[in-house]
Amino acid sequence: MESLRVLELYSGIGGMHYALKESGISAQVVAAVDINTTANEIYRHNFPDTPLWNKTIEGIPLDDFNKLSFDMIMMSPPCQPFTRLGLQGDVADPRCKSFVFILELLPRLCKLPTYILLENVKGFESSSARDYLIKTLSGCGYTYQECMISPTNVGIPNSRLRYFLVAKMSAENSSIQTSDKGCSFSHVTDSGFHERSSVLRYKCQNIDQPSEDNSNVHVLYKRETQMDSQKKTNQNKDLSVQQIQDYLEPQMNIDMELYLLKPKTLLRYGSILDIVQPHSRRSVCFTKGYGRYVEGTGSVLQCCMENEISSVFTNLDQLTEEEKLQKMLKLNLRYFTPREVANLMGFPQSFSFPEDISIIQQYRVLGNSLNVLVVARLLQLMSSEHFGHSEGEKQFSVLGNEYQCS
Ligand code: SAH
Repeated sequence: MESLRVLELYSGIGGMHYALKESGISAQVVAAVDINTTANEIYRHNFPDTPLWNKTIEGIPLDDFNKLSFDMIMMSPPCQPFTRLGLQGDVADPRCKSFVFILELLPRLCKLPTYILLENVKGFESSSARDYLIKTLSGCGYTYQECMISPTNVGIPNSRLRYFLVAKMSAENSSIQTSDKGCSFSHVTDSGFHERSSVLRYKCQNIDQPSEDNSNVHVLYKRETQMDSQKKTNQNKDLSVQQIQDYLEPQMNIDMELYLLKPKTLLRYGSILDIVQPHSRRSVCFTKGYGRYVEGTGSVLQCCMENEISSVFTNLDQLTEEEKLQKMLKLNLRYFTPREVANLMGFPQSFSFPEDISIIQQYRVLGNSLNVLVVARLLQLMSSEHFGHSEGEKQFSVLGNEYQCS
């Protein structure tokens, strides 16, 4: 394949760019676009030769896009409009404006890109933004595949269930690309691509999902039910997933003062911490609030193995504050370092942060990013000749098989 010209929208710290490199596809990012100055500083530090546009996407004229003459778009539009926490404003949300702009721009491009890859949070699959995306892609003659994948599906001990869509201009429509007026809906007949696509929905027993409602269920310790505990045990037994220790920095490189959980945090949030050990084969999703907030932002690591979590937490609430603290301190709990979070997110060793970026900023941008190895696998499937045919769909099912029900 000739070197692909890639447009990276909402580029952040360049997760997509790393995935592209990792995929082995011959490609160059001809422009990366983002408005976040911190993310852009990090991007530039790692990819000094890539043109980085510090601009709002919706402010870029059609002509500037046309001049790039790109073959592929990779994008992770802002996810707040689709998350449960983000009020679910969907396409009406102002943060969706740029995404709607892209969808409206696409049919007007002189040359339609051959490939499109989009990443988003769980929830996007049932949004009207997704429906608009599908309508646009079908109208322009793309064949596409959607799936929900978590890094655990590719053997990485970290949950980050995300929606992915990969689209390819179907061979019978590629002649449209030469149209100097660009593609418009009226040019293309609906040739049934839509029916061929399938969303690989996750099963009810999805290991990545927190249990919905723990009320009225017997709590063992740490507000954990028998079911939660069983789920974690099962995940830790899954030998197809690597161990956390494979992603850790050498202990001597870590300034423990910076990463150990403070007594105040232990006392206040001890019972809701997600604790993992070096031999665990699981961890929860690291979000942008990691290191600042405790609830649901990511796992913490138990560094001292002499005490079992169960023995520390059972009947803890019957002790005085001081006794509680002394017990919890025995576990030596610490946050994962940004480097370790980056490792779990598939970033290569060559990735680094400029010196002036604080640890909290590092967690924040990593939490907004994506799993590089998951996207690399999708890119490989997308560029394979099977894509768009039943063989390719089978490969997608294998990748996202825990989630397939159709
Ligand atoms: N994939 C990226 C992260 C995407 S998060 C990574 O690997 O880091 C979404 C990004 O979109 C954020 O960095 C945010 O700054 C950027 N963004 C949001 N709205 C934008 C807009 N209208 N124009 C350009 N960038 C935007």
